[in-house]
Amino acid sequence: MTSTSVTCPYCTTSVSLDLSESYEPVFQVCPDCGRRFIVERTADGVRVLREKDAPSLSIPDCREIERSGSCEQ
Ligand SMILES: [Zn+2]
Repeated sequence: MTSTSVTCPYCTTSVSLDLSESYEPVFQVCPDCGRRFIVERTADGVRVLREKDAPSLSIPDCREIERSGSCEQ
């Protein structure tokens, strides 16, 4: 397990978590806002995705603005 921290995509709180050794995306619940998001391990580290964006896991940038309704950086 590797400890790291990510930024909650909903409230931007920093969330500490333990990464498994696999590259499987995992769900993480934000301790601050209580919402669930997806943490995906990548070659560069980790990235986070909102659950509604999960089908877009293979899309590296925000190209579905119409569907998601927003494109925060
Ligand atoms: Zn949050």
